[in-house]
Amino acid sequence: MTLSLTPDALEALIVFYRDAGVDVAVGEEAADRFAEADAELARRREALAARQEVVRTPAVARPQTVSAAGAPPAPDSAVAAAREAARSAAGLDELRAIVERFEGCALKATASRTVFEDGARDARVMFVGEAPGREEDMEGRPFVGKSGQLLDRMLASVGLDRRTNAYIANIIPWRPPGNRTPTPQEIAICEPFVRRQIELKAPELLVCVGAPSTETLLGLKGIMKVRGRLMGFEAGGRTIQAIATLHPAYLLRSPIAKRQAWRDMLTIRQALWL
Ligand code: URA
Repeated sequence: MTLSLTPDALEALIVFYRDAGVDVAVGEEAADRFAEADAELARRREALAARQEVVRTPAVARPQTVSAAGAPPAPDSAVAAAREAARSAAGLDELRAIVERFEGCALKATASRTVFEDGARDARVMFVGEAPGREEDMEGRPFVGKSGQLLDRMLASVGLDRRTNAYIANIIPWRPPGNRTPTPQEIAICEPFVRRQIELKAPELLVCVGAPSTETLLGLKGIMKVRGRLMGFEAGGRTIQAIATLHPAYLLRSPIAKRQAWRDMLTIRQALWL
């Protein structure tokens, strides 16, 4: 695999490798650890394919939940309006316009702009995070702050790049005030939009970045346990592959976990046969 990187990007990539535990040069010749990992990953892929679990979590089937603070469930009408509006979109541009016009989620009122997508629409892989933060809200693109810079290094470590072969979105397109965690109601209202976005984008591989995305889209709790497993995901009548990985914001707080994230990136690379 050949990566062409600027000196800054190369330095950032080396820092990511170091944090992932790659800290010793062991030989005169560069060893292709990707190739070594391939055999093991291929074996795991076969084993996984044999007992592949298909996640069927259509937005309509999700029961409404009550938040820990006892807030009422999302108004049926807002969720129903989001579902109907999302369903009516025939393409990503149309969906983006619909999301930008949607008034059913209170987060929109406090956000500066709608953060819908970034990256290559023809990419084979789609990454879905949680919600925009301050930088994303200012720029209108997902993952452009510190977490986004780390995500870019993670992508580069397996030959991915949002300009050419990776597509990025969030489960929530508006910044929650003060970067607070989105409520279950807000997630329920926004979920039909991100599900439609996945259907219209039709990636071969969906990567849920962090716990909220994993819980919302895959219906799986316990990110440390469920991460790194390839599974099936139903999108628009097709089954695509999906995997959960750790959120870069978590990796910035807990660099030791980069080892697991690195393993996930290898599985992603293997799933895409890069
Ligand atoms: N964290 C996310 O989950 N998404 C962003 O866009 C930025 C930070």
